[in-house]
Amino acid sequence: MVLQLDLSPLDKWLKVASRPFVISGPCSAETEDQVLETAVQLAKIKEVSVFRAGIWKPRTRPGSFEGVGSRGLRWLKKVKEETGLLVSTEVANEKHVYEALKYGIDLLWIGARTSVNPFTVQEIADALDGVDVMVLVKNPINPDIDLWTGAVERIAAAGIKKLGAVHRGFSTYEKTIYRNQPNWQMPIELHRRIPGLPIICDPSHISGSRKYLFEISQKAMDLNFDGLIIESHIDPDNAWSDAAQQITPDGLKELLKNLVLRHERPDDPRLLDLLGELRQQIDVFDENLLELMEKRMKIAETIGQFKKENNITILQSTRWDEIISKAVIKGESKGLSQEFIDSIFKAIHQESINHQMKVLNDDKQVEEIKG
Ligand code: PEP
Ligand code: MN
Repeated sequence: MVLQLDLSPLDKWLKVASRPFVISGPCSAETEDQVLETAVQLAKIKEVSVFRAGIWKPRTRPGSFEGVGSRGLRWLKKVKEETGLLVSTEVANEKHVYEALKYGIDLLWIGARTSVNPFTVQEIADALDGVDVMVLVKNPINPDIDLWTGAVERIAAAGIKKLGAVHRGFSTYEKTIYRNQPNWQMPIELHRRIPGLPIICDPSHISGSRKYLFEISQKAMDLNFDGLIIESHIDPDNAWSDAAQQITPDGLKELLKNLVLRHERPDDPRLLDLLGELRQQIDVFDENLLELMEKRMKIAETIGQFKKENNITILQSTRWDEIISKAVIKGESKGLSQEFIDSIFKAIHQESINHQMKVLNDDKQVEEIKG
């Protein structure tokens, strides 16, 4: 699936022409002074073009700080007037949209707990119909690419052209070093499905801790993301929400200075030729892999036929355990990770089972017709 949406390129809606485009500011607006002091410091960083601050905060448990509400919008308006930065906040229902537009907020983002719900996304899209405002759609909390795509489509259908997506990671039951799992294949797939859609990474909500911000930001740049949204605060340790993941404006400046920005393609045509040759070699190997898979599946089908004729079940777990443990050992000696071998062999096994099932079911249909 590839969707051709009518989108405006990122450099047309922002003041910063070069990558990365940076949005920064506190997780939550707390006081007028905190908002303005943070903004004044951020305005001195050349990459920062948009100031962020949550006004209405979706909190997991009741009793946590739930945001200052509409009065914080006045503070954002002041940030815009005093620093020249564009301003942004999260909207989670139509009332938020109307309030934010009333105060001239330039960019609205739809949070992960909202993009998961098509009813609410549609309500927001209806409130935005025909409005010229920038909108970013965060990924839903669960790794569902269709839900994310659908949320972007709903907003685009309302006529929003300055539209982008934010990758903020995905919830998991298991505890990992990150607060939210990056699942990098998700934003890559979204980008493939919707060419021209700007993608911005949110290392703050992926990391959950300031110590991983740099590595996540660098990875996003290496994957050619358009920008970063990073939470910053004049006094991060005492922030009223997400204290562990916020950094000072100076910390942000340092992080941006250390980022290595690679180009999408080399300028020198000779290097492009070399890259082209290497890619041709990769294409040949991919072709070989496909042919090998085709051959492997043909054998699986013959085995399926044999099992059918001799009344043997498709799944024989001891045989499978043997295959996978042998492959893991061999793979390790070839520099292939256990995780990779495990997932690739599971996928091959599943495809093999599907082919064998097809052999059995084809016969079943014949039997049904006969019966
Ligand atoms: C936020 O950006 O402060 C926020 C609540 O983000 P998310 O929707 O990604 O949790
Ligand atoms: Mn936050």
